[in-house]
Amino acid sequence: MSSRSDRACMLCGIIQPFRHFIDRGCPNCESVLHYQDNEDNQVQDCTSPSFEGLVALGDDNKKSWVARWLRIDSFVPGLYAVKVTGKLPPHIISDLAEQNVIYRPRDGSAED
Ligand SMILES: [Zn+2]
Repeated sequence: MSSRSDRACMLCGIIQPFRHFIDRGCPNCESVLHYQDNEDNQVQDCTSPSFEGLVALGDDNKKSWVARWLRIDSFVPGLYAVKVTGKLPPHIISDLAEQNVIYRPRDGSAED
């Protein structure tokens, strides 16, 4: 199902091979996280090799409760993790705040 080199984006939860984050960035967060410009470090800092609960988001279930629950209904189709272990580094979080992006940790610590 997922290989050892797969990582989950801590901001949106999408799962991709490590190389994809380096080569193409995150299909949802590239405009705010800039994986491609920052090479390895950004991918190391902002994606996690540890995640659980895979959800496949497709065009037909974009409006499903799962997508809404995960807050991924506006994201590109793909494989997403329900839970991602780890948190974005503080400097990235303040960076996001400056861009008006609200970061909700996906490690289970966020309260609704
Ligand atoms: Zn992302």
